[in-house]
Amino acid sequence: LLFICLVVTSESATLTYKDPKAPLQSRIEDLLKQMTLAEKIGQMTQIDRSVATQDVMKNYSIGSVLSGGGSIPKPNATVEDWVNMVNDFQKGALSSRLQIPMIYGIDAVHGHNNVYGATIFPHNIGLGATRDPELAKRIGVATALEVRATGIPYVFAPCLAVCRDPRWGRCYESFSENPEIVEAMTEVIVGLQGGEPSQKGTPFVTGKQSVAATAKHFVGDGGTVRGIDENNTVIDYHDLLSIHLRPYYRAIIKGVSSVMVSYSSWNGVKMHSNRKLVTGLLKSTLRFRGFVISDWQGIDRITSPPGSNYMFSVHAGVNAGIDMIMVPYNYTDFINDLTDQVNSKSIPMSRIDDAVRRILRVKFQMGLFENPMADLSLKDHFGSRKHRELAREAVRKSLVLLKNGKDGDKPLLPVDKKAPKILVAGTHADNLGYQCGGWTITWQGGSGNTTIGTTILSAIRSTVDPHTEVVYQENPDPSSLKANDYSYGIVVVGELPYAEFDGDSTTLTMIEPGPTIIKNVCASMKCVVVVVSGRPIVLEPYVPYMDALVAAWLPGTEGQGLADVLFGFYPFSGKLPRTWFKSVNQLPMNVGDKHYDPLFPFGFSLTTDISDAS
Ligand code: BGC
Repeated sequence: LLFICLVVTSESATLTYKDPKAPLQSRIEDLLKQMTLAEKIGQMTQIDRSVATQDVMKNYSIGSVLSGGGSIPKPNATVEDWVNMVNDFQKGALSSRLQIPMIYGIDAVHGHNNVYGATIFPHNIGLGATRDPELAKRIGVATALEVRATGIPYVFAPCLAVCRDPRWGRCYESFSENPEIVEAMTEVIVGLQGGEPSQKGTPFVTGKQSVAATAKHFVGDGGTVRGIDENNTVIDYHDLLSIHLRPYYRAIIKGVSSVMVSYSSWNGVKMHSNRKLVTGLLKSTLRFRGFVISDWQGIDRITSPPGSNYMFSVHAGVNAGIDMIMVPYNYTDFINDLTDQVNSKSIPMSRIDDAVRRILRVKFQMGLFENPMADLSLKDHFGSRKHRELAREAVRKSLVLLKNGKDGDKPLLPVDKKAPKILVAGTHADNLGYQCGGWTITWQGGSGNTTIGTTILSAIRSTVDPHTEVVYQENPDPSSLKANDYSYGIVVVGELPYAEFDGDSTTLTMIEPGPTIIKNVCASMKCVVVVVSGRPIVLEPYVPYMDALVAAWLPGTEGQGLADVLFGFYPFSGKLPRTWFKSVNQLPMNVGDKHYDPLFPFGFSLTTDISDAS
């Protein structure tokens, strides 16, 4: 009898965490008490796919794998390639002693942007211009479906930065300079995760069509001095809370699963080592119950130069309250250093248990123990027509009309689609890579046909009447312009793609020969200038030449949305999500500032009368 009892007890002890009907908390506690220190630290470790193998997953009980910017299985990898890769790593994780599934994460910051053929939505700045949280939610649903179609259950999005200075290279990842707009757009989390929790603040992901979301980068990333990426945010506690923290509060209420810590510092203290804000404010005061993840090699940068005193970095980061550490490559150093420090009690076991509980909570909650393996059942959603229609709608709603007609003239827009002859010009008219911006296929983004989509030029061509002649010249020779009888010139210019610090700029100028193209075309015909950029750029000197001016932000793959509005099938409806400065000397300049003298103020918008358009 004793023998039978023992067998039953030990079996049920193993089974509680595997029993989907057992209460979540019991499953977490049951599993936690069976884990060794090595298994716990493994769960806290996230490695890049390029160093992951089935053996590594199994031997270290690795908790998570990621594709860092552009880390893909192979060029133009298909949905099947992704699913196979994720499943291979999962098999490794499931063959570990306790069979804890790993969670694969990726940056899906404007659609499933690393994957060839995915629907690419406008970057957040464009979504901020729509002022439409419900649209953001639908984009969240669509993005989740495309990500899940490739076998991935976890995204590092949305970015909730409140960008206060457009010189920052990540400004386009921010919905707005205004915290209320960023806060409202946290609705995207509900879309990504498939619903809202009934118990406020608990991580909440529903079903196999949703993904765990990450609010990033906690906190103050958009407030650094002179907009320098990863720099210091120098403001008092009150402003930190009222400007930068606000969206996090809302994200937590909506059940966001993880929060990523910012590379930046607050008043000189690296956020990755800021126990007061990560543990005190985020976990204790705001009662965030998901897990906190570091940024890519984020703890290495606690010390200067990065990684110079790694033992100290591990200590500071883990004790600050970071639960999952994104250590893409040198994971054995991390594991050894953390193990030593727990053994020597300089990092308490309670801190490790808190981290592991949080990670397991998300994994259990979202059903990863029951459904760890991906299949191809969602494949048809990937890059689907329906999602492209949604992206096109988002483009339409994101466009901000800044000028329509020279002083006293009648409005130029909408463009008449029956016009006999239209010139399309500019560096950005026929370049899908430019139109998508950074974080598209590669980390920094690219030029040309980097993925599947419609350029602005091809959208214009398919919109005009069959009798309308569309002439395209990227940089037209001025003499050829005068001799022609164009009804309109559509000039599409802007910035080159960039991501993170590579996009930091002190000048914010348009790329050459953009200004020359504007001058030449606008001197010869009625012209509308479309600016494709991740932020306001210097425009004041050129505006007088223009008949009409449109801010198109970084619209993504569906250029058709621009043609829809330009030709009057829909009215312009976007509002400036940021202040458009006159000169960089004015920066930083945000709505509400004392000396507010913008070219176009925050919220500015014009619209078009489309009653005549057909
Ligand atoms: C960025 C994060 C991103 C991470 C993983 C970092 O460089 O700051 O936003 O999620 O890389 O790709």
